[in-house]
Amino acid sequence: MEQKVVAPAEAGIMKKVVAHAKEYGFVFPSSEIYDGLAAVYDYGQMGVELKNNIKTVWYKAMTQLNDNIVGIDAAIFMHPLTWKASGHVDGFSDPMIDNKDSKKRYRADVLVEEHAAALEAAGKKDEGDALVKKLARLLEANDLKAVQDLIIQTGIKCPVSGTANWTEVRQFNLMFSTQVGSVAEDTSLIYLRPETAQGIFVNFLNVQKTGRMKIPFGIAQIGKAFRNEIVARQFTFRMREFEQMEMQFFIRPGTEMEWYNKWKEVRMKWHQALGLPTNKLRFHDHEKLAHYANAAVDIEFEFPFGFKEMEGIHSRTDFDLGNHQELSKKKQQYFDNDIDEATGKPYGNYVPYVVETSVGADRCFLAVLCNAYTEEVSGEGEQQKERTYLKLHPALAPIKAAILPITKKDGLPEKAMEIYNELKYDVKVTYEDKDSIGKRYTRNDLIGTPFCIAVDHQTLEDNTVTIRHRDSMEQERVAISDLRVKIRKATSWKSILEKL
Ligand code: ATP
Repeated sequence: MEQKVVAPAEAGIMKKVVAHAKEYGFVFPSSEIYDGLAAVYDYGQMGVELKNNIKTVWYKAMTQLNDNIVGIDAAIFMHPLTWKASGHVDGFSDPMIDNKDSKKRYRADVLVEEHAAALEAAGKKDEGDALVKKLARLLEANDLKAVQDLIIQTGIKCPVSGTANWTEVRQFNLMFSTQVGSVAEDTSLIYLRPETAQGIFVNFLNVQKTGRMKIPFGIAQIGKAFRNEIVARQFTFRMREFEQMEMQFFIRPGTEMEWYNKWKEVRMKWHQALGLPTNKLRFHDHEKLAHYANAAVDIEFEFPFGFKEMEGIHSRTDFDLGNHQELSKKKQQYFDNDIDEATGKPYGNYVPYVVETSVGADRCFLAVLCNAYTEEVSGEGEQQKERTYLKLHPALAPIKAAILPITKKDGLPEKAMEIYNELKYDVKVTYEDKDSIGKRYTRNDLIGTPFCIAVDHQTLEDNTVTIRHRDSMEQERVAISDLRVKIRKATSWKSILEKL
């Protein structure tokens, strides 16, 4: 169904981005020599740099710009009761439906939502909205038979077979499980975490006590999460193994809306600071609240396949800590000795409320990559030239500068290596001397290197080089002694963080 709402030109861009990502070492299908594994991807030599940069700028924005937010790195395996307490054992499932003719499996809710989006695109917004509202009501009541009826009555067809020959709707738990323990009799069922958040909740008191944290405070974490997604597609948008960047902000009950609104604003700014255009970002309030939330919003980005969730911001109340307290029989309380003006007494003991921000590193990577992918035509007639490049924020670019001697002789390579050796301690640089300088510029454009530094004969005379700028292709002559400061400044974390 998704394909229907995608304009052909935009669908084409997605294909190009996927091909580009593979060709230039950003993303490879997992175990490709065995024909890959659905919805699992490996990051290549360029992709890992870009993804690490996105993760670093998130982590710094959380833990460096806020002295009341600290990081942790919890294990992927957790005690199985964790997932009982969090609601994942009983409630972490998606409604699935199969088409009997094509044998394709779909998420029933996504089929309806995409049909509603197609209605909206066709000028029938009210009809689409009503459909989404009805779906939310039926899912809330867990009335799967009625969801199936809704799909049939609405005339939703399978995009592959074109028929409406649907099975019933069933719930499908998304958690992967495995066994832990070496002897068969001693093994017990264990899950691969479907979200990183629970590693934070179970460590709430450890961090609060050892860090002497006072509410409000946050714990941030980046790590892998696993979900056996029913329909896994759209490249790194929906993977079965992915990475989340989550922050749980612990607060006094009753202050949640204030913090929820604050974090909405802060997080939106972060996406904009990465260079994602304001008109391609929007908030989307949840129709159906998750079992743990009393307010929830998504930050959506306009991918080539439409506006889709990139980050979720949820007010989770005391749902998680309260449930952990009940199941573990260990108090998950905080003593707040601030004075409550209404009573004149300290607020005392309570289970804190939580506002969480949860963004997928892989979705963010895809948004940044799609946004950076640029095809440009310049000049006219015979002089017309086409160029493809990645217009990445310099601080996110995998390689910050390429040092390029214009020939391989006359001592230019040695001089270029000197510059490389000086810069490599500060920023990620490369040295290249193969092929013409033009070809080397092109190669660097394709991976988004913001600065190419050409070393020529004049360099030997006056210790200056030419910097060629990726986006404008303009060239400027700069003293070698100024290079370090200039490149560091343009590619610094500060250049992003100061916009927050
Ligand atoms: P969706 O509705 O798209 O399945 P979700 O609402 O289940 O997403 P959350 O549980 O809120 O997602 O997870 C927080 C973030 O983790 C998402 O906003 C997304 O960026 C990321 N994420 C979730 N599932 C995946 C996945 N399968 N692949 C890549 N990233 C994911």
